Amino acid sequence: MAVRRKLIKERVPTPERPAEERIHDFKEVNLGYTFELAVKEAERCLQCPANYAPCIKGCPVHINIPGFIGKLVEYRDDPDKAVKEALKVIWACNSLPATTGRVCPQEDQCEMNCVMGKVGDKINIGKLERFVADYAREKGIDEELLFEMVPKIEKKGQKVAIIGAGPAGLTAAGELAKLGYDVTIYEALHEPGGVLMYGIPEFRLPKSIVESEIDKLRKLGVKILTDHIVGKTVTIEELLEEYDAVFIGSGAGTPRLINAPGINLNGIYTANEFLTRVNLMKAYLFPEYDTPVKVGKRVIVIGAGNTAMDAARSARRFGAEVIIAYRRGEEDVSARIEEVEHAKEEGIKFEYFINPVEFIGDENGNVKAVKFEKMKPLDERDKRGKRKIVGTGEYVTIEADTVIIAIGKHPNRLIINTPGLKVERGRIVVDENMMTSIPGVFAGGDAIRGEATVILAMGDGRRAAKAIHEYLTKKREGKENA
Ligand SMILES: Cc1cc2nc3c(=O)[nH]c(=O)nc-3n(C[C@H](O)[C@H](O)[C@H](O)COP(=O)(O)OP(=O)(O)OC[C@H]3O[C@@H](n4cnc5c(N)ncnc54)[C@H](O)[C@@H]3O)c2cc1C
Ligand code: SF4
Repeated sequence: MAVRRKLIKERVPTPERPAEERIHDFKEVNLGYTFELAVKEAERCLQCPANYAPCIKGCPVHINIPGFIGKLVEYRDDPDKAVKEALKVIWACNSLPATTGRVCPQEDQCEMNCVMGKVGDKINIGKLERFVADYAREKGIDEELLFEMVPKIEKKGQKVAIIGAGPAGLTAAGELAKLGYDVTIYEALHEPGGVLMYGIPEFRLPKSIVESEIDKLRKLGVKILTDHIVGKTVTIEELLEEYDAVFIGSGAGTPRLINAPGINLNGIYTANEFLTRVNLMKAYLFPEYDTPVKVGKRVIVIGAGNTAMDAARSARRFGAEVIIAYRRGEEDVSARIEEVEHAKEEGIKFEYFINPVEFIGDENGNVKAVKFEKMKPLDERDKRGKRKIVGTGEYVTIEADTVIIAIGKHPNRLIINTPGLKVERGRIVVDENMMTSIPGVFAGGDAIRGEATVILAMGDGRRAAKAIHEYLTKKREGKENA
């Protein structure tokens, strides 16, 4: 067990590339811990007992956080062993730690109630998780663990189809493969990963890391069929004839648009299109890659979630001057704190309490400005706790040659129009076992929640895998007893 040392109040910082350097490329901003720095940060953890530790309660997949942090300290003289033992603890609950360590909003989850916060800085749990996954990948320790795990898997002889290779589908697939099911993922795009591949940019989450985490699932036996659009290439009814159960993890990839004059002018993108071009199709490497993207000199991004921050920071890397326009105030910005800070350091300007009412074009049909109504905050808050706002009747016009709309997304119609599938407000309805209204069909992630977070999608994937296992165990036993 880790020996507790003297209380160290300050967090060990992770090195970051300076803003003036990083705005010229798409390389990762945060460089992560070395082993020495990770151990120094791990030593600050008070090792609260697992049945009490508030960090575990705050993690949607309940990783034994003091458990994995403790291993780094316990085996500090043998870095490879320390990481292998820590990774074993993490993998018991989370198969994509290099990803979640980078993109989870830890400040609202595991780190939120960390008891160290009462006397100093909270433990940097996300960066420690990321360190373990990165070190294991670089040293081949993850492969070693897989090599030990795979032969122990007992095959069940039943097949499960997963729709969508985002965090929800990948997690469900991994858990089911570990339980011995024959798992096939159907993915519409030409690459698996969902938002991790097409949405979140390289400078926050390098694609080689996502690919390597997905590769490990393949080594567990998961098959991935890309360019397969369920609802077109194959229907859910057809999948049910071939498979014993189906999991829908098709996300919420349809962008919301703004119903205002001029919305179809040239130079106006949805964040989805803009980020897909930049990330999935690597338009930032054009002409080495053949997908272009046109980014002007002055860009307005509408919205203030993670998607807006990613679009703004990507546009900045094309040399543009970027403004984020948000209809509410700073306190209601929903993007992660780290991303907002990085955006500000990179010179992105924020304009609050303005709402677009018209997109103004030139004689060639290109956008040249956006007219906004100024908004006023009220004292009341809406259901999500955000401050209500009203228009003031005053307007402001801001010039721009590129506009990116990032005001949210909803689930894909192709799936939700499946006959017999119960849907409310565009989201698939599931029971307490993650089963939809169609027996044997389960769902999770953004498809049931609307746009949420990676770790919530993964938590759903885990819960659904457990429920599918119970469902298929009964089905198996029923057949055996028949
Ligand atoms: C730009 C951006 C930045 C974000 N940043 C963060 C962040 O920093 N932290 C965080 O926690 N969350 C973030 N999020 C939210 C997070 O990415 C999502 O909540 C999460 O990816 C949802 O996972 P999912 O598996 O449900 O869906 P998705 O990741 O959307 O994956 C769904 C997959 O299903 C596929 N699919 C859809 N329809 C079909 C079909 N008919 N047939 C076959 N396949 C289909 C899609 O192609 C996709 O690959 C961000 C989202 C965006 C868009
Ligand atoms: S709450 Fe904080 S101090 Fe306690 S175990 Fe978790 S990370 Fe360590």
